[in-house]
Amino acid sequence: MKQAIKLLLKFIPRPLLIRLSLAARKPLHLIYKGNNTECPVCGKTSRKFLPYGYGNANKDNRLCPYCLSLERHRLLWLFLKEKTSFFNDDLKVLHIAPEQPFINKFKKLSNIDYITADLYSPVVDVKTDIRDMVFNDNEFDFVICNHVLEHIDDEQKAMKEILRVMKPGGKAILQVPIDYSLDTTFEDPKITSKKDREKYYGQYDHVRLYGKDYPQRLRKAGFEVTEDDFVNSFSPEEQERYRFDKNEIIYFCKKPIN
Ligand SMILES: [Zn+2]
Repeated sequence: MKQAIKLLLKFIPRPLLIRLSLAARKPLHLIYKGNNTECPVCGKTSRKFLPYGYGNANKDNRLCPYCLSLERHRLLWLFLKEKTSFFNDDLKVLHIAPEQPFINKFKKLSNIDYITADLYSPVVDVKTDIRDMVFNDNEFDFVICNHVLEHIDDEQKAMKEILRVMKPGGKAILQVPIDYSLDTTFEDPKITSKKDREKYYGQYDHVRLYGKDYPQRLRKAGFEVTEDDFVNSFSPEEQERYRFDKNEIIYFCKKPIN
C-alpha cells in the first residue's frame, strides 16, 4: 500500500492529484486517522502525512491527507497568523500561482480583497505574465508568490515587477527552493534540456538552483528583506508534529516607503 501511494504521488501531477484525492478522500482518511501529526492549515490531525516529491526528493510524511499542505504551506500559514496582519487588516492581496491548500481559505477571509493570478492556471482570477503584469503601480498591500521565481528566466525583471505593483510599505512573501549548501545561486545558460535541468537544478522546469545569496538577489531588485528563522521558534516536538523543514527561512519582503 505504501509503495503504491509513493508511486502514485511520484508520477501524478499535483493538480490532478488534488482532483483524484477528492474521490479517494474517505478511504485515505481512514488509513491515516490518528494524532501524531497536525496540519495548522486545515486544523486536522493524522497518524502521519503522505509521502511527496519528485524522483529522489520523494520523502515520507510530508503531505497533509486532508488539505494537501506541504511543510512550507504549514509554516507559512503560521507565519502569516503570528507575524503579520494578514488575517486582521483590510488588505488588497495578490496571490501569484496560488497554492491549492490556501485558495479557498484566503477567499473566505472578509478582511482581504483577494486576487489570484497566473499565466497558465485555469482557476485564477487574472491571467498575466509575472514579468509584465496587468496591474497598476502601487496597487497591493500584500503579495504572495511562492516557488515561482526558480522557473523564470529573467528573475530580476519579475522581482521588480512585483515591487512595482506593491504599495510603498507593502509586504511580500516570495519563497523559492534553496540549496543551503550553496553560497551562491547556480545557473548556467547552457543548461537548457529537461534532463540537464533536472540533473543540475533538481527539477526539469527550473532554470537555476538558488543558494544562500537569495535574499541579496531580492535586495538587488529593491526589496527590504527580513530573514526570519521562524521555524526555530517552535520546539523540536512541535516541529515534528507539524512536520516542518527545520532549515526553512522565511524571507519577509517589504517595499521601501521612499
Ligand atoms: Zn491540512
